[in-house]
Amino acid sequence: MTAVISSPAGLDSRVVEFVSRPKQMYVDGQWIDALSGATFETLDPATGEAITTVPHSGVADVDRAVAAARRAFESGPWRALTPAQRQRMLWQIGEGILSRAEQFAQLETIDNGKSVAVAQAVDVTWAAEIFFYYAGWATKIEGTTIPVSVPWAPGGRFHAFTVREPVGVCAQIIPWNFPLVMAAFKVAPALACGNTLILKPAEQTPLTALLLAEVIAEVGVPDGVFNVVTGYGDVGAALSSHPDVDKVAFTGSTEVGKKIVNAASGNLKKVSLELGGKSPQVIFADADLATAIPGAASGFLFNHGQACTAGTRLLVEDSIFDEFTAGVADFARAQKIGPGMDPTNDIGPLISQDQLTKVTGYIDAGLAAGARALAGGGRHGDHGFYVEPTLLVDVRRDFSVYQEEIFGPVAVAVPFNRAEGIEAAANDTPYGLAASVWTRDVSRAHEVASQIKAGTVWINCHNAFDTALPFGGYKQSGWGRELGAGAIAEYTQTKSVNIAL
Ligand code: NAP
Ligand code: MG
Repeated sequence: MTAVISSPAGLDSRVVEFVSRPKQMYVDGQWIDALSGATFETLDPATGEAITTVPHSGVADVDRAVAAARRAFESGPWRALTPAQRQRMLWQIGEGILSRAEQFAQLETIDNGKSVAVAQAVDVTWAAEIFFYYAGWATKIEGTTIPVSVPWAPGGRFHAFTVREPVGVCAQIIPWNFPLVMAAFKVAPALACGNTLILKPAEQTPLTALLLAEVIAEVGVPDGVFNVVTGYGDVGAALSSHPDVDKVAFTGSTEVGKKIVNAASGNLKKVSLELGGKSPQVIFADADLATAIPGAASGFLFNHGQACTAGTRLLVEDSIFDEFTAGVADFARAQKIGPGMDPTNDIGPLISQDQLTKVTGYIDAGLAAGARALAGGGRHGDHGFYVEPTLLVDVRRDFSVYQEEIFGPVAVAVPFNRAEGIEAAANDTPYGLAASVWTRDVSRAHEVASQIKAGTVWINCHNAFDTALPFGGYKQSGWGRELGAGAIAEYTQTKSVNIAL
């Protein structure tokens, strides 16, 4: 098939050019097709139409990419480069992303559906920032000097130190909700630490990973260091079980995360996981409602709710419950729904028909069980994958809308009584990715933050990420940390060297 036929108005000519030919994937410094020659289409969620095709890889393609990454790791020039040379290349990747900011943003929008304004301001800007941040780390990955005693060598003298070495060949499997940002989360620290890698984008959103490969090729990262393999879940599974992969880093559903843990057990490869969430937002009566209402509403509506940190359980102190939920409902109803290529739209289409079916199925189940929609309550319009921003009340804790990750613009609000505390309600989930607390009482903010079992707690804000802050999950939201120094720990292993003097 060929490409974007009815390109949305305002599409950059370089984007049209990029998708106007079947795409190839990037392995061992070459642009190649799948060995089978098979391809699959990636769709524009705003229209349901095919944008272009990408290679449909299989196990043999995975073997080829892993072999390239292994060769580049063991004998290639990557580890032989100085940290300063790696630093410069990472910085240049960040510059390369910014120099194509508009292309990246539009490509992300047509492949994923999100607002082009958000794609540029958040996704593209942050992805570049992540490369700049880890460029700085490349020259600062240090060991320590440790005084040792060696009890069975009395009188002996030793000089002992640690070095942080790369883990090796890394498989990086990412989801469709923030395709470029998720690639940056994983690729930048892996390269900073001297690893080689194979990136597997989600089948729904392969395009910005392929444009990133163009940037990485241009800055002169040696062949085989960075590889992109496009395909379905079986490609992720083949990478996860591959005997010559040293580490798998995954972001996606908890269900697939568990499969990856099993698949990785053959050679006990290192595993890091960023999984789902059902994050609480706790709103106390003393919160500044002028901030908390739009803040908490944006906390579950950002990216149309397709965010692992979406704050979808609003636990609201009973004395302000009606006022607060009315405010959030007004905010939700005021959202402008439509295609992401129109930057004035707030809520774009969900990623796919499957996701539309899943999200509306949750809303219907909640309503059937007795919940009431203060805003929204179903699909928006009768074509496209749009869902109304939805706030459900009269929800009990055994409802699926309260318990499970919906991954759409849907939140539940439940009142609490301060005398009973909020610890049990906030932690009433198998997940533990994030939470927020809205209050003007600084002592209470600290106290509640310490009670919540989550990898990130925001106070008077939600989704306030920073590249320097480690990010990851408690409980079934994951293993390990991305961003900050956390990712450097994931992509290095410590070697102790002890020298008898
Ligand atoms: P997913 O199935 O977990 O997919 C994430 C990535 O894993 C994709 O690249 C996928 O490839 C790949 N994959 C699928 N099966 C695999 C396997 N057996 N072994 C290794 N890799 C495999 O997530 P999804 O289907 O995109 O979304 C489903 C749900 O996951 C969402 O509704 C949401 O609840 C949750 N989710 C969470 C996050 C998060 O950030 N925590 C992000 C996205 C989705 P394919 O794309 O080819 O299937
Ligand atoms: Mg797509």
